[in-house]
Amino acid sequence: MTRLHDPVGDFDVDRVRTDFPLLARSVHDKPLVYFDSANTAQKPRAVIEAVDRYYREFNANVARAVHQLGEEATAAYESARDKLARLLNAPSRDEIVLTSGTTQAINLVAYSWALPRLGPGDTILVTTMEHHANIVPWQLVCERTGARLKVAPIDERGELIVEKFIEALTPDVKLAAVAHVSNVLGTINPVAELARATRKRGIPLLVDGSQAAPHFAVDVRALGCDFYAMTGHKLFGPTGTGALWARREILREMPPFFGGGEMIREVRFDGTTYAEPPHRFEAGTPNIAGFVGLAAAIDYLGALDHAGVAAHEADLLAHATDALRALPGVRLIGEAAHKVPVISFLVEGAHAHDLATLLDHEGIAVRSGHHCAHPLMQFYGVPATLRASLAFYNTHAEVERFVAALARVRKLLA
Ligand code: PMP
Repeated sequence: MTRLHDPVGDFDVDRVRTDFPLLARSVHDKPLVYFDSANTAQKPRAVIEAVDRYYREFNANVARAVHQLGEEATAAYESARDKLARLLNAPSRDEIVLTSGTTQAINLVAYSWALPRLGPGDTILVTTMEHHANIVPWQLVCERTGARLKVAPIDERGELIVEKFIEALTPDVKLAAVAHVSNVLGTINPVAELARATRKRGIPLLVDGSQAAPHFAVDVRALGCDFYAMTGHKLFGPTGTGALWARREILREMPPFFGGGEMIREVRFDGTTYAEPPHRFEAGTPNIAGFVGLAAAIDYLGALDHAGVAAHEADLLAHATDALRALPGVRLIGEAAHKVPVISFLVEGAHAHDLATLLDHEGIAVRSGHHCAHPLMQFYGVPATLRASLAFYNTHAEVERFVAALARVRKLLA
């Protein structure tokens, strides 16, 4: 029997839901149950209004105009860098490169850090549970350099086998890249422990933090990693926003990735010099409105009662997991001891896509597919899973509706 906490502190899910206009809509004439936040999260009114205000009141390009609008836009845009630095507990705002998301952040490290450094005989270590964004950029680097990719295994529960990861840190490994949280399994990896092992051996560690910051506080200093990639749209901010944090000394050694305006010191036909990080990596006009929105998202999250959010999410996870386990024919994929409320599962005799379609007709949005994690699907021997991914704005009543609908639609397919 799931024990549900009483509301903890100031966290009141019904009040919080009113901050998210989209959650009030219906789908197929049923009230929406949005269980796809790991894919992209819904946005609070504060974010929507910040983006709207930017376009209405101070739309201008950043870092080039001396006029008032340009200064206001630059200040608002740059405030996202400050807030991201605080969110990640980065030692300096200059260690935050603003990107279009995790994918661009990881590709920046691949092309600017790894490509010039790696060669035949070198290895990049990843894990079985990585998203394609933390696999394919390294494969591209391997193709060009003659380096090779090595994979640290997981167990059936969906936990990284830490001893095997540490064993795999042989002298040929020049970079290790792991997810903080798996987007399929919900597993929280013991990043601080992994970072202790990589640091001892002088191997830089990149962490794909896409699925972590939406659920708990991230502290790059405490983690002890070297690169941290994250994405804004899963953090209740606009799409096309994200960041790479890296240690200043590492960023300083990285050559530019994209060339263009805003990333230079001086351009001459006989030789161009580049700006210091982070601007060196931010060529061209950025997603100004997006970062204005992301700054608002970080403020919004900062004002929530974090202990209350954590307790509520833990309760939702326990409730949904127990209820799914109790349904006949359901196989959970990913039963790690430390998880965020992301639950992958299969239902005997029914295709994931068919179930997701039927659930959609009940107003319930879940994701079906490989979740950009083919190697993980191969590990479990399945082509696809259903994934219910929850956020703090979800409720126990929604979990009940989801499980009841699943029980109903499953019978239609059996
Ligand atoms: N890594 C993980 C673990 C993810 O869940 C995602 C998004 N599904 C990404 C990377 C890619 O993020 P983005 O598409 O925002 O760049």
